[in-house]
Formats: sequence, C-alpha cells, structure tokens
Amino acid sequence: MTHDQGLVNAWIGFGANLGDPQKAIQSALRSLVSTSGTTVTAVSSFYRTAPVGFDDQPDFLNGVARIKTNLDSGVLLGRLLEIEAEIGRIRTSERFGPRVIDLDLLLFGDQIIDSDVLTVPHPRMQLRRFVLEPLAEIEGEMVFPGGITLSACLKDCENQEVTREGAIDFSEAN
Ligand code: ADP
Ligand code: MG
Repeated sequence: MTHDQGLVNAWIGFGANLGDPQKAIQSALRSLVSTSGTTVTAVSSFYRTAPVGFDDQPDFLNGVARIKTNLDSGVLLGRLLEIEAEIGRIRTSERFGPRVIDLDLLLFGDQIIDSDVLTVPHPRMQLRRFVLEPLAEIEGEMVFPGGITLSACLKDCENQEVTREGAIDFSEAN
C-alpha cells in the first residue's frame, strides 16, 4: 500500500516549451518543495521531446517527480494549477499547444479518480514515452492501477523520439 500515516506517494509530470523551459521546470520543482505537507522524494533527468500535434513550435523539455504528500488529490491538483499560474502559463484553447509550464498529476497512490476536474491515472500518460521514460528512470518497473505495467506501455511507444538531456538541478542557486 502507498498509504503511510496519511501520506501518499504521487507522481507529477512536467513539461515546458516556451520562454526558458529549463528555468520554468526548476521553478516549478522549487514550488513543489515548498508546498506544505509535501516532500519531493525523486526527480528524473530532463528529456527533450518533439511536440505532438503541432509541428510549428519549439521542442518540449519533460520530466517526472515523485512526491510524498498528505494533501488530498483535489487540493494537490489545485496547488499544481496555482504553480502553473505563478510561473505565468497563459492558457489557450489549444490542448497540445505551446505552454510555459504544464504540470500533470500522473498517479496518486494506487487510486483511480474520475471526477469533472481530475482523472487519475492521467488519461494519456500510458501512451507517452516522454512521461514513461522519466518515470522508468526513477522507479524501474511499476504496475499501474488496472494492472498494466510501465514496461509494457513503454514497449508500445518505442517509436516516439525522446532524448535524455541530463540531471535537473533545482537548488535555490538556480
Ligand atoms: P493537458 O495537460 O491534458 O494538455 P491542460 O493542462 O490544459 O491539459 O488541462 C488542465 C485541466 O485538466 C485542469 O484544469 C484539470 O482540471 C484537468 N485535469 C484532469 N485530470 C488531470 C490530471 N490528472 N492532471 C492535471 N490536470 C488534470
Ligand atoms: Mg496539464
């Protein structure tokens, strides 16, 4: 079980492709670190990904963090949206369009959540190598709620191009 004195392991996916993506992601991680009731317990490398859907925009930088939190899933989502807003994401109607920062709640313990505002596991994470690759880096193998394994999902999207870029340094000095 992932529950331990009210604490849950959750996995956050992040991506950015406008302005200074590296800086936006470092800043988002620092905000996660300073979130009450929450500790960041693992962070993947940066991965560079060509944009999906819209060709005419810069490459994305993506990565995944594992956190331990006592926040409720809805409160955590609210906090992620707040961090996005603080970092200056301008929302457009284009779902896969460019963004300064995108934070997704990928997994929340072993819970399956399907509300108007929150779907967990994140509905597209199992199809995206830029999520699965950094997740595999920090977790090795994983079984997702529903029983499918991380390695099986990765095998199905081997043809998507994703390049590992190196460690994320999100210390205060950056
Ligand atoms: P996407 O990340 O799919 O490209 P957006 O970031 O624009 O799309 O969508 C954000 C909205 O999606 C949020 O307002 C939130 O209510 C909803 N949402 C549903 N499930 C999740 C999830 N697991 N993680 C983040 N946002 C989610
Ligand atoms: Mg999002």
